[in-house]
Amino acid sequence: MSQSTIGEQWVKQATRTARAVVLTVYVSTAALVGVLTVDRLDVQNRGQASIAEMKAALKAAADILLEDERLTMSVHLAVATGEKTWVTRYQEHVPLIDAAIKRAAEMAPAAASARFDEATGAASDRLAPMEREAFSRAANGDSQGARSILAGRAYAEQKAILAKGLNAFIVELQDAVDSRRGAQERRSWAFFVAMLVVAAIGFYAIWRRLTAHLMRSEAAFSAKETEVTQLALHDTLTGLPNRRYLQVQIDRSIARASREAQQFAVLMIDLESFKPVNDRHGHAAGDLVVMEISRRLTNQVRKDEVVSRLSGDEFVVVLNHTGSAEGTLRAAQRLIGALSQPIELTFGSMHVNASVGVAFYPTDATNADDLLRKAAVALYRDKSAARGEVRFFQRGMDEEVQERAALELDLRDAIARGDIVPYFQPLIELRSGSLTGFEVLSRWRHPSRGLIPPDLFIPIAEETGLIDAMTISVMRAALTSARDWDCRLTIAVNIAPQQLRDEALTARLLDVLRETGFAPDRFEIEITENALIGDLELARRIVADLKSYGVRVSLDDFGTGYSSLNHLAELQFDKIKIDRSFIHTLRDRPESATIVNAIIGLGKNLNLLTTAEGIESLADADLLTEMGCNCGQGFLYSRPIPADLVAALIDRYALCVPRTVQPAPVDALNMG
Ligand code: C2E
Ligand code: MG
Ligand code: MG
Repeated sequence: MSQSTIGEQWVKQATRTARAVVLTVYVSTAALVGVLTVDRLDVQNRGQASIAEMKAALKAAADILLEDERLTMSVHLAVATGEKTWVTRYQEHVPLIDAAIKRAAEMAPAAASARFDEATGAASDRLAPMEREAFSRAANGDSQGARSILAGRAYAEQKAILAKGLNAFIVELQDAVDSRRGAQERRSWAFFVAMLVVAAIGFYAIWRRLTAHLMRSEAAFSAKETEVTQLALHDTLTGLPNRRYLQVQIDRSIARASREAQQFAVLMIDLESFKPVNDRHGHAAGDLVVMEISRRLTNQVRKDEVVSRLSGDEFVVVLNHTGSAEGTLRAAQRLIGALSQPIELTFGSMHVNASVGVAFYPTDATNADDLLRKAAVALYRDKSAARGEVRFFQRGMDEEVQERAALELDLRDAIARGDIVPYFQPLIELRSGSLTGFEVLSRWRHPSRGLIPPDLFIPIAEETGLIDAMTISVMRAALTSARDWDCRLTIAVNIAPQQLRDEALTARLLDVLRETGFAPDRFEIEITENALIGDLELARRIVADLKSYGVRVSLDDFGTGYSSLNHLAELQFDKIKIDRSFIHTLRDRPESATIVNAIIGLGKNLNLLTTAEGIESLADADLLTEMGCNCGQGFLYSRPIPADLVAALIDRYALCVPRTVQPAPVDALNMG
């Protein structure tokens, strides 16, 4: 899963949870507000109802008192005036007071009504006959007797009992109404508080769930984040820090070293036989080798030191504790030693050669980029340097690298402009001393730097992929010049290893031969042993194709690479060129003479011509002739020269027709 997908997934989940929580809170709050609103309305209604009840109770009490007052007044006026209307009024008011008492009793608690009845029943019963007696006496003209009844003690006592009972009943009635209202209010508050408690518990539960969920998400998120960071900062195959993380680690080492006024070393490691493992045994085998290498490197350094994988076969080690250059050298040699132990794989064991480039903080550079660049400069400056070496960055290397970069920039235009020109070095038949042909050696006529030798620009051309365009351009120029020379002279062109891994090479070479009208049987290619590493089958096909057109093939610099003797027989070379390092030491080192002898013998047995490169003295030429070497090339005869000087050179030598293989008919070239 990609890093962004993991991030997106977690952001989506967190958003979903937050949405759910917000929705739950909204819904709960709305429900709570709804319930409380309904409750408040209910409380309001009940309050209004109890106020109405209170009013009714007070009215009933007032009615009782009023009617009682009217009855008393009617009785007294009836007695005082003897008028019948007051008696009538009295009689009218008796049912009214009864009705008022009945209404009040309905509102009062049953016990209060019972107490009222009990307290006033007897008094009412006693008062009614006394009042009736008073009315009748007054009606009969005995107003004195009537008044004496009303003013009598018995009447007053009963009247007081009635008034007391009435007052007590009214108080009880009011208390009952009051307490009902109080109970209602208390219930309403209790409900309100209960709702608040429920809401608080609900919100607390939601908050707890949300916190628990967020904590889980946070834990999962930080676990994923750690994983993503691990992926972003580490090499997926080995788990070692990648370039980004390495820079952070170097920055840390810089901070520490500058605080403690120490130096530390950045080691860049290149595995030299790693690529062929991938090519020959596939990437799974290559992966196993890389993992084993990373394990060995990690075992060699301390815990606070860093091993990083920059690319396929490039590793970097930061040594924080090396101290001196000697210490670093020993540590680097230990690393190389550990890496050079055989690695056991299913197809057998293999050896890895490692070289190390070293740059120091702060002497060589003071920032991570420069340290890495300078360690790389030290490592790659001299590709032909011995394998398994430790190379320290030195002042001046940078300028070389910059110069190389400048050449790299110029090279493409130089090829297009034809500034890379062929120089010709004669090939001599040793026994007769006659000229058989020339090897074409490229030179760069640089407008400001003068003539640049091939070992400065061929490696650049090879690395930048310009080698093929360059070879074709130089070959075209060489064949155009050589077309007019004696038709027995051969022309040999060097072909770089990677050109031999290109299916289209044959067609391109044949195109130039056809274009320049140069006979293929006068044409040779020189390939080095390194060209046979990689796709041997393709190399074999290209060689066989070219040979079928009559082109001859030489194995160049023989003895310096690592081709097996099998290759010699299988690829049907025409010629072996003995590397000049053996010729230069031919008479000083007996081993060189032995090797040269063996190569000449090999050539004879395989029916191959042998050419000795680098003959600088007559003595070497004589010795090689004696040893049976067929041809020679070297400063003794001529240095490589430009085309316009060749005619004079040809004149100096008698020509000889070289031994050839059967050439292909020229019109075979007319095919595509
Ligand atoms: P090489 O193909 O082995 O060419 C022979 C080299 O030996 C030439 O170096 C030549 O100048 C040098 N040499 C010849 N005789 C003597 C001698 O007596 N003493 C000494 N000390 N050196 C001698 P040069 O021209 O510098 O070329 C170096 C290499 O560059 C060539 O080695 C060849 O591998 C490569 N090269 C040159 N031109 C081309 C080219 O057009 N294409 C490719 N792919 N490689 C080229
Ligand atoms: Mg050569
Ligand atoms: Mg050579």
